[in-house]
Amino acid sequence: MSDTKYIFVTGGVASSLGKGIISASLGKLLQARGYRVTNQKLDPYINIDPGTLNPYEHGECYVTVDGHEADLDLGHYERFLNVQTHKSNNITSGRIYQNVIQRERHGDFLGKTVQVIPHITDEIIRNIKQLGTNNQFDFVITEIGGTVGDIESLPYIESVRQMLWNMRKNCCCIHLTYVPYLAATGELKTKPTQHSVKELQQEGVQPDILVLRTEHPVTKEVRKKVALFCNVDLDAVIESADVKTIYEVPIRMQKEGLDKVVLRKLGVPDDKPTDMKDWNAFLDKLNNAKEEVKIGLVGKYVKLPDAYKSITESLIHASAYNNRKLNLKLILSEDITEENSAKILDGLDGILIAPGFGERGTEGKISAVKFARENNIPCLGICLGMQCMAIEFARNVLGLKGAHSTELDPSTPYKVIDIMESQKTVLQKGGSMRLGAFNCEIKDGTLIKSIYGKDIISERHRHRFEFNNEYKAEFEANGMICSGINPETNLVEIIELPQNKWFIGVQFHPEYSSTVLNPHPLFINFVKAAIEK
Ligand code: GLN
Repeated sequence: MSDTKYIFVTGGVASSLGKGIISASLGKLLQARGYRVTNQKLDPYINIDPGTLNPYEHGECYVTVDGHEADLDLGHYERFLNVQTHKSNNITSGRIYQNVIQRERHGDFLGKTVQVIPHITDEIIRNIKQLGTNNQFDFVITEIGGTVGDIESLPYIESVRQMLWNMRKNCCCIHLTYVPYLAATGELKTKPTQHSVKELQQEGVQPDILVLRTEHPVTKEVRKKVALFCNVDLDAVIESADVKTIYEVPIRMQKEGLDKVVLRKLGVPDDKPTDMKDWNAFLDKLNNAKEEVKIGLVGKYVKLPDAYKSITESLIHASAYNNRKLNLKLILSEDITEENSAKILDGLDGILIAPGFGERGTEGKISAVKFARENNIPCLGICLGMQCMAIEFARNVLGLKGAHSTELDPSTPYKVIDIMESQKTVLQKGGSMRLGAFNCEIKDGTLIKSIYGKDIISERHRHRFEFNNEYKAEFEANGMICSGINPETNLVEIIELPQNKWFIGVQFHPEYSSTVLNPHPLFINFVKAAIEK
């Protein structure tokens, strides 16, 4: 296509309606017609990025290949579209303001008063249009975080208004709302939707398409009413009912004709078939699996499942491709001790030790590792999970009493995990870890080699501490193999215990790169081993 088309997705009535999934689903449908699509998330908070946010505040922190700590919606975009995102796909108000203030200090606005309009809005628009430069994409789908009417999101809606006005034919706006069901009268209520569209109109934006989130089927009458009161075409009122799995949403949106209306609004001919063959093949596997595989995820944020979004989704992909239904047990690491581990972890086919920061719950993770190692239960340790595997091995196999990570016990006599040299001088907290994709060289004859089938792999990272190479010889002499090493820095990326059926720890995060059409081999193989157990 000669012009890049911009699609905005706003939300009303309530938060957490699933704008990210709707945006990703639309992206998938356009991509399935052969178009080049990218999804972007604009977050109205003041943090520069979500890297310093507690997962309980904002769910998982996702990491892009170029080392950006990003909103978890970018994970959905990558999993749905199977295309990598970058720093430019996630912008916060913090970054917008930081850029403008830096330019002000630099003197770029000399003599002028720097204001929300036009300076902040211009910067927002620049960041949206940046994805459309050099004709890299046919469609840029920009999701505006938050809910219409929030003070924080005003400059974003104003930017959308300006783009809709200035680039009429190349922009459209989808507004996602909620239609509650009143059990007492047995009715779906459209008033909240009407009010939220009015709010949007007051800010100068007329949505082209409404997507109604609902727990009950939206009748023709309800659609007509919404269309009439909100100035949208009848076929531009799209129902988004609850579904069993988020991977069903693109198919539902296709049935509702969301992609067709979008093309019409943007003046793009609807003349290409939508190829969802592979997607549907995955869905069939996901929906038709009868037998279960029972995986325990040991972590400290299990009370908010969004905190481990990418891990959960990777396990769902891997289970489906192994023709199993995932039975995921979320286990609070603080609850586990050496005494009760057998009871808590009993009956699991596989155990995954989650990444994390700080001391809370790590002794529980270490006890879970011990249980998995001694009972030969397939076990995957990710980042802090891998570090716990090393600590457990040092303590219980090498007999190094009190072995630890200096992150968790700075005065440990055996620093089997220690701060990376490059991190020693880092004082700033945000965006300062070892972040993004790095290479890892895999040792021949190892389990990990048979899984990847490659000598060099590239995986994403987010950490400050590393395996202490001073202990490598002792580990290897006692059976723990360091099977993946970063070729530039010698950093141990992978450890494995060949005498166990499946026991692998990775310093990187494979969960960030598992997608529906390209499930991650490490998860597939881990689940396979769990099934075979
Ligand atoms: N806290 C550990 C480190 O910084 C592990 C980080 C993680 O699990 N993402 O090295």
